[in-house]
Amino acid sequence: MAERVVVIGAVALGPKAAARCKRLCPEAHVTLIDQSTRISYGGCGIPFYVSGEVNRVDELQETPYHTLRDAAFFKTHKGVDVLVRTRATAINRAERTITVENVDTGAVSTVPYDKLVLAMGSSAFKPPLPGLELAGISAATNLEEAEFLRAEVAAGRVNHVVVVGGGFIGLEMAVAFADMWGIPVSVVELADQILPNFLSDGLSHMAVQDLQGHSVQVYTGEKVLRFEGEGGRVARVVTDKRTIEAELVVMAAGVRPNSELAVAAGLAVAERGQVLVDEQLRTSDPNIYAGGDLASVKNLVTGKPGWFPLGSMANRQGRVIGTNVAGGSATFPGAVGSWGIKLFDYAAAGAGLTIEAARREGFDAIKVHMNQLDRAHFYPERDLMTLELVAERGTNRVLGVQGISPNGDALIARINAVAYLLGHGCLVEDISNLEVVYTPPFASAMDIINALGNVAENILAGRLVPLEAEEFATLWQARLQGDVYFLDARAHKDAEAMVEKYPGEWHSIPQDEIAARIGEVPKDKPIVVLCNTGLRSYEAQLGLAAHGITNTRSVLGGMSSAKRLGSKI
Ligand SMILES: Cc1cc2nc3c(=O)[nH]c(=O)nc-3n(C[C@H](O)[C@H](O)[C@H](O)COP(=O)(O)OP(=O)(O)OC[C@H]3O[C@@H](n4cnc5c(N)ncnc54)[C@H](O)[C@@H]3O)c2cc1C
Repeated sequence: MAERVVVIGAVALGPKAAARCKRLCPEAHVTLIDQSTRISYGGCGIPFYVSGEVNRVDELQETPYHTLRDAAFFKTHKGVDVLVRTRATAINRAERTITVENVDTGAVSTVPYDKLVLAMGSSAFKPPLPGLELAGISAATNLEEAEFLRAEVAAGRVNHVVVVGGGFIGLEMAVAFADMWGIPVSVVELADQILPNFLSDGLSHMAVQDLQGHSVQVYTGEKVLRFEGEGGRVARVVTDKRTIEAELVVMAAGVRPNSELAVAAGLAVAERGQVLVDEQLRTSDPNIYAGGDLASVKNLVTGKPGWFPLGSMANRQGRVIGTNVAGGSATFPGAVGSWGIKLFDYAAAGAGLTIEAARREGFDAIKVHMNQLDRAHFYPERDLMTLELVAERGTNRVLGVQGISPNGDALIARINAVAYLLGHGCLVEDISNLEVVYTPPFASAMDIINALGNVAENILAGRLVPLEAEEFATLWQARLQGDVYFLDARAHKDAEAMVEKYPGEWHSIPQDEIAARIGEVPKDKPIVVLCNTGLRSYEAQLGLAAHGITNTRSVLGGMSSAKRLGSKI
């Protein structure tokens, strides 16, 4: 008898698994079930529909050949039966059936399965705050919410938007309103930084500079207390620090797995409810598979159960599950959590652990921060890319990489290269020696990614004693109380303005003059050496060490990082 495969959830993972199963096993009877009307759409495109960059909402649900991926499409093109507006309410593992309810009529029925796929995804977390029921407050996780948000701004009744949550969904939505509609946005984030767990605190400050330069006000370390309305519509957001006028509020305070059915059926779940699966993406019941936002897969950096609610995971895992329910034995070994976001003038991306996450996980980790041109220095078009590598002291193991750059394609190329290695347990030396393409219009001969590995090696070997750009800014602010000598290792013409502005406090000794002018450098004070990006200051540090002056620290990323951090020096 042909296998009956039932898939609950039909947005990203579900349709992929269903179509793959039918391709490999045409005789299987595959049924795709979703409580919504619209299925198989690119939820990641929602911010670009709200912004207007994507014209019609249907474009998110169409094939590249403009065919709508609806129930009829899946029946005729894929041989998959689809039940929309049908909610699964229970899984009966002993009988191998699920109970479903028609969302419109309330009619209840039973659907038998041989293999069941759970692709119920996640829902926006909405903290139960007073006023949450007011009109004008919405999440941005499905097409109906996307249509609502765009209609609100298109109607011209929105003068200010508040986004609750500074994760990547919240920030993409903030950019959508501010960039294309010119509507000022305030982002309120509970954590002390935006993109917590995605970017280091320092890189997140750089992202804030970009947002605040484009009418997105960012309030971190701030808690929303309630929403206040007028005539049933939201009018104000009250936080523990201020009141913000807003005609529209987007809830983007994280997502939670839709795992109630799995929990009720007694399947094994992780602490926060994510369904636990093995490498074949089988749950604790071998006839039930799960993936996407619903499931926990191995974090290949920590070796522990991880959670990566990302469309890239859902699509790849859907194919693995489709193969397996068709009788194959594909595996999904785990993930390192590669992500990216386009802001205004900058894009940010990363993979693996940030320095804060690595330390929380118990690693003795260092962060290596660098700024370098992303193309040959002589090529006319080039941008400064900022990258950070997180590595473990002692083992030299790479734990993560993050970056921010005006050129998103170039940044993502570097992150992707390291992400692959991260999943296979790489060392700092592997990054130094990573073979990457060199051609002046796209890369340097010693590419920024190799240079990042080199700097990490130098720090781990104790040759380079670093000072983070944030620490430099703090030391500089405290310079009158402190007893620190600031040495600018750039050419005179670059250092001149600072020497004039801060006579007696800012000292210009170009790197190639260190040996000749060593007598000017005090031996009894800590010395902070800096240049534009960190290369000449490292060489100056070596030059000072050759003359016995070792109480020195070289500013990682130099003046360019200090400026990107918004330092007012
Ligand atoms: C605004 C936005 C931007 C994003 N951008 C990116 C990005 O740039 N890159 C990236 O990698 N990821 C991004 N994501 C995340 C990505 O969209 C999700 O990871 C992906 O959609 C998860 O797919 P899924 O199939 O696991 O679940 P979902 O997409 O959540 O789909 C689950 C479906 O199951 C249905 N369902 C749930 N319970 C039941 C039930 N009991 N009965 C019937 N149906 C049920 C739900 O209604 C839903 O239709 C973004 C998400 C959003 C919201």
